[in-house]
Amino acid sequence: MFLAILRSARTGDIWSEITRRDCRIVWHKLIWFPLHVPKYAMVAWFAILNRFATKDRLRRMGTDMDSVCALCADADKSKNHIFFECAFSVRVWSVVLGLCGLDRSTLSWDQELDWAVSCLKDKCLTVKLLKLAWNAFIYCIWEECYMGLFGGSIRSQCDIFYSLKEIFGFILYGRKFDRTDPTNAKLCIEWDLLD
Ligand SMILES: [Zn+2]
Repeated sequence: MFLAILRSARTGDIWSEITRRDCRIVWHKLIWFPLHVPKYAMVAWFAILNRFATKDRLRRMGTDMDSVCALCADADKSKNHIFFECAFSVRVWSVVLGLCGLDRSTLSWDQELDWAVSCLKDKCLTVKLLKLAWNAFIYCIWEECYMGLFGGSIRSQCDIFYSLKEIFGFILYGRKFDRTDPTNAKLCIEWDLLD
């Protein structure tokens, strides 16, 4: 169902909605930025607007489906649970934050969104990685939930980290940033970023 919505949505229409002069959306720079990955941005956009076909929404729509979280088998299948309360997701996000040099607890959905909108405004490598990671995290967790929802296999957290490193390495390959800077040097090691 979600894929159908996603496929039917035209990027131009979405961009028009986001940039309407009478509808200034504070988070558009979080998901639409020079290094953004279109599929990540679109899924994050749907998540922020609560357009996912999660089980709680499907049930309200009259669809009878298993009510447990596909990632941890918890009874809660809300957006809040899936992204930043689920043990599986919390583990993924905590490791991602750690790889970006942040040592803090995972917050609620609203708090994580507020934090990202408020704090990820710089053009340094840390912020570039965190913006990519925030969107990629939403996409990956949605993808795993979607697979689980319809009986597919769920990737391990290690597989997700490997995938993110590979994608970020590709996106940032050849980009100029000061590798002698200690913070950047550490990020390059943590994320396996090559020259
Ligand atoms: Zn869960």
